[in-house]
Amino acid sequence: MATSTNEYPAKGYAATSPDSGLAPFSFTRRGLRHDDVLIDISHCGICHSDLHSARNDWGRSTYPVVPGHEIVGTVAAVGEGVTRHQIGDRVAIGCMVDSCMECRHCDADLEQYCQNGGMTGTYNGTDRRDGSPTYGGYSDRIVCREEFVLKVPAGLPMAEAAPLLCAGITTYSPLRTWKVGPGSKVAVAGLGGLGHMGVKLAAAMGAEVTVLSRSESKRADAEKLGAHAFLNTTDRVAMKAKTGYFDLVLNTIPVRHDVTPYLHLLRIDGVQVLVGVIDMLPEMHSGLLLGRKVLTGSGIGGLAQTQEMLDFCAEHGVLPEIETIPIQDVNHAYDRMEASDVKYRFVIDMASLG
Ligand code: NAP
Ligand code: ZN
Repeated sequence: MATSTNEYPAKGYAATSPDSGLAPFSFTRRGLRHDDVLIDISHCGICHSDLHSARNDWGRSTYPVVPGHEIVGTVAAVGEGVTRHQIGDRVAIGCMVDSCMECRHCDADLEQYCQNGGMTGTYNGTDRRDGSPTYGGYSDRIVCREEFVLKVPAGLPMAEAAPLLCAGITTYSPLRTWKVGPGSKVAVAGLGGLGHMGVKLAAAMGAEVTVLSRSESKRADAEKLGAHAFLNTTDRVAMKAKTGYFDLVLNTIPVRHDVTPYLHLLRIDGVQVLVGVIDMLPEMHSGLLLGRKVLTGSGIGGLAQTQEMLDFCAEHGVLPEIETIPIQDVNHAYDRMEASDVKYRFVIDMASLG
């Protein structure tokens, strides 16, 4: 397919209101700008953020919402100025499709924290150049600025690569920020899409990994995923026994909750990093932090680090556990994800769009 100024017809699934669920939706993708890449999407992972956005849990959804920011596919066309990608390349897009690329944070490869209006989200965002809404990866094709398109390394199967674009980078980035490696004691709270990648990645980096979960049924899985221990967070005695033990707690729990029990688990200068909840936290006694503990958060990861993570996963054979579904099952998949009934990431096979 040649470079084109014409728009591309696209098929996908969209939510049209908080309680509509997702249904077939036809729309157009913009014609290629000089630095754009057109991608035929083969797979898209289902992140809990998709559900939050489709249902307007964060109060900032603009409908229709076409979710999906764990996108993999093949380059189908390129703009005349594109240098990084060629037709036929296996590529990927994560949670952002643009940023200013000139502020301090963008200069430091932290485009997700762009200081000029923030990153442009892959969906539910606004295109920086023409003001149009962005639509995500639950669709057959997407157009994206070339810098925001990553390479899928040869060793990674496409379906398994998809969840790395959000669940992978969101857990990889804080593990790197807080220098996890051999000898680190890492706990991962919430064994879902993000959590299970956190376990696999921390183990691959050489850390001693413990799963913190309410779901006793996941105990056996923890070991299979590479964890060295499983702690049932509803067991107060077992939790108490690990007081002051961990260097890092990676908290992926997606709802408002008391973070105090996880702070108790940290040693001096230990860090609890919240990547799940985006909400008011319940009251907490500040005295807990006098033990020089750090409570912080982390958002996805920059472009360079996302590519580094993809390459790391290919090199170390770190792949998510996935359940592949046709797009027609997406509403059921949301219900199951909400009930923590997915092991451990749904991936939509886009061939099912027909
Ligand atoms: P997920 O697959 O649904 O996993 C979340 C896990 O948290 C569940 O499997 C469950 O594990 C635990 N959990 C669920 N409800 C809970 C509750 N009420 N109380 C305690 N634990 C609960 O979700 P995900 O896709 O991993 O996403 C997790 C969160 O990260 C979402 O809120 C998402 O929006 C957010 N997110 C943030 C970023 C970022 O940049 N910071 C990026 C992507 C996603 P157990 O059964 O083991 O308890
Ligand atoms: Zn996500």
